[in-house]
Amino acid sequence: MQDYREAARLDALHQLKLLDTPPSESFDRITRMAAQIFDLPFAAVSLTDRDRQWFKSRVGIAHTGIPRHKAPCSQVAVSCGAVVIEDFATDPYYADSLLAENGTRFYAGAPLVTSDGHGLGALCVLGAEPRAVTASELSALTDLAAMVMAQIELQHAFGRIDPISGLATRAQFRDDLVDLARDRPGEARIAVVADLARDDQVARIIGAMGPARLDEMIREASLAIQGALGAERTIYHVGTTQFAFLSSPGATVDAYLPMLEQAFERVRANSSARFVTSVAIGVRPFQLGAVTAEDVLRGAASAAQAARRVDGGIGLYSSKRDAMMRRHYRLLQDFGAALEAEDQLRLVYQPRMDLRTGACLGAETLLRWRHPVFGEVSPAEFIPIIEQTSLARPATQWVLDRALDQLAQWQAMGLDLMLSINISAANLMEVDLVQRIQLALLARQLRPELLEIELTESAMMEQPERALAMLREIAGAGIALAIDDFGTGHSSLAYLQQVPAQVVKVDQTFVRRLNAVSDADYVLVETMVGLIHKLGRRVVVEGVETDHAAALLADMGCEQAQGYWFARPLEACDFIAWIAQRKAMAA
Ligand code: C2E
Ligand code: MG
Ligand code: MG
Repeated sequence: MQDYREAARLDALHQLKLLDTPPSESFDRITRMAAQIFDLPFAAVSLTDRDRQWFKSRVGIAHTGIPRHKAPCSQVAVSCGAVVIEDFATDPYYADSLLAENGTRFYAGAPLVTSDGHGLGALCVLGAEPRAVTASELSALTDLAAMVMAQIELQHAFGRIDPISGLATRAQFRDDLVDLARDRPGEARIAVVADLARDDQVARIIGAMGPARLDEMIREASLAIQGALGAERTIYHVGTTQFAFLSSPGATVDAYLPMLEQAFERVRANSSARFVTSVAIGVRPFQLGAVTAEDVLRGAASAAQAARRVDGGIGLYSSKRDAMMRRHYRLLQDFGAALEAEDQLRLVYQPRMDLRTGACLGAETLLRWRHPVFGEVSPAEFIPIIEQTSLARPATQWVLDRALDQLAQWQAMGLDLMLSINISAANLMEVDLVQRIQLALLARQLRPELLEIELTESAMMEQPERALAMLREIAGAGIALAIDDFGTGHSSLAYLQQVPAQVVKVDQTFVRRLNAVSDADYVLVETMVGLIHKLGRRVVVEGVETDHAAALLADMGCEQAQGYWFARPLEACDFIAWIAQRKAMAA
């Protein structure tokens, strides 16, 4: 019993995370008052650790702690009562203590007791002369000890209660989960994160109504959630509009989901913000102690993110999706370093063929990344991730510089080839894009028409007006333009007609369907080709994998093609060898 109490006491002390923290004036002030009231040179706020007394605050004392053995503060902590030693020299127990050896004759200590009844240590005064204590002195010391405790608990609460919602914070969630895992390791629980609004909705509310309105909505929501889940459930406010809680033990996902759905329907029905926000709920079953608090929250939050498409949608955590999201995050984090490393990024070149003559006209530049841990990562995976960020600019610049170096080298070798590079929607927002391309061409004395910029139809449609202005600027500089992945975006013909592209690249998906000899698919591609021609553009078909497709497309009047049938994307040296081999064969 004694051992258990001491363990709980130490636990309470350690949870406060007060040991070995720097001195603080708010404690020192109280310690000084204690010394003054007793008119003594020494006073301390002394915390009783496993085998030491550690001084959070001290007056007249040089060291930061003493061993616990025969320290009267330890007796104060364990008994939770005041201890007075009027004269160490005559005290049967403390006469041979370390304090006595060092000349201490007098001690008075009042207990520091938590609201849960754990004694943490003592506020104590010490003297070099024997002395008596009056009742009023002892009561003042007890009051000051209570002030020390209020200070400790205030500091501890700080950061644990959200000032807006009044709910426990993420820090509290972490601590509570650690406690639960210690008490009931292995027990199955379900963590839920409810995200009450999308980032853009939050931004719009603040923009239109001011931050006070958002605070008000958060307060309203926290009350509603508490009401829907019952007062005994602890709800944590873990992000601006995100709330988390744990299921009771033994809850199964199947039984829990309908309950959640109903609870949040009630929350939504009474919400004053229901028309300007949408709720997403993430559910992550886990075992106490098997997953860190951070991972529990992250997993539930990412499940909520995945459920975002539907208002009130509930997403169940999937370890596969979680692994993918983490991989994406890792790729994003590592791409900057890849741009600076010598050996991670490289360009490959896929030949672009004239379908009528069979000649190679040039190549499309495609980026490759050999990640130090993941190995080869496809641009289809990493480009969509990085192009949403500020990395889009240095990435495109990297490609542009290397591609034009290559082009200059081919020119010097007497190879009259053109080269295309792919750019991202974000690049269109760079006001100096055209200037940078022009400078890069100029530095290598390359004619602008040798370079072609490919931009996907869907990238154009992200900001159609801005895209059009930039594309006109590119065309105005004499640089060739191609609309990539045509047929997969949602552009209108009226828009396409305005885009100054000479070339439209029909997306692979249509070409692949040609192989499945169906009339409808044939007609679809033929119609697209006819349309592009009517708009006065040349057609490049991508993804030609068979001679059958190549022949069909040539018959339809497609001018150019790329695809595995002609060549896969090739390393620079292989590309040269490939060209040479074809020349030799033709000769
Ligand atoms: P994209 O621009 O449409 O490039 C064509 C993709 O189709 C390339 O994939 C190419 O390897 C692949 N491909 C070519 N012929 C065939 C074929 O016959 N069959 C099949 N199944 N596939 C074929 P890759 O290299 O994986 O690139 C994927 C996408 O990543 C590119 O699509 C492009 O949108 C993007 N990308 C690649 N490099 C860059 C870059 O430097 N910058 C930007 N912004 N995007 C890039
Ligand atoms: Mg392309
Ligand atoms: Mg394409």
